[in-house]
Amino acid sequence: MKNPFKNTAFLFGVTKAKNLPNDCGIEVLLSGRSNAGKSSALNSLADNKKLARISKTPGRTTEINFFEVEEGYKLLDLPGYGFAKSGQSRIKDWGSLLGEYFANRKALKGVLIFMDIRHPLKPIDLEMIKLCESFDIDYVAVLTKSDKVSKNIEAKKIHQVSNETNAIEIVSISSLNKKGFGTLRKVLLGFRNE
Ligand code: GDP
Repeated sequence: MKNPFKNTAFLFGVTKAKNLPNDCGIEVLLSGRSNAGKSSALNSLADNKKLARISKTPGRTTEINFFEVEEGYKLLDLPGYGFAKSGQSRIKDWGSLLGEYFANRKALKGVLIFMDIRHPLKPIDLEMIKLCESFDIDYVAVLTKSDKVSKNIEAKKIHQVSNETNAIEIVSISSLNKKGFGTLRKVLLGFRNE
């Protein structure tokens, strides 16, 4: 079967709420602290090694980066979430962009929170969970780098995240050995088909 994410392409980055595109179609937000493995996961999802490079470009880290999977279905990358290296005013702009986006966006159907399976639920992850819960947005915990832990630890971490959050799904993936991407694609298509 053809990978439905194969043609995913970068559209544009947005820094201010007034520049958000029309609120239509379906949008799923990708968040995670820096180094969680989100870019690698986006590349593996689409089977395109260069796709997420854009979200790593300095200056783009305080944007919401829009990727189109297909017409009417977008993935939005938040490269700078919890990333405090930009100037104060840019961070403020970015915080208000995110707040505005969560409060008003009808297209927003769900959030994926990428967390290194070895240390999930860091304060910044809990902040994102709180944001989702306060706006009643479904979120999925994506536990990355599963190749780094034993089956036993993997099961324990999944159990921990299940106990401590209201995530609608918990998916464990490895961009190294490509495990879990079938499930991740299914979960993402579930938002599209809602
Ligand atoms: P991002 O900052 O969340 O976009 O994280 P990256 O995708 O850039 O990954 C951060 C680091 O973790 C890089 O050195 C990656 O090579 C590594 N990494 C990402 N995914 C995996 C994985 O599934 N397994 C292993 N072993 N390393 C990974």
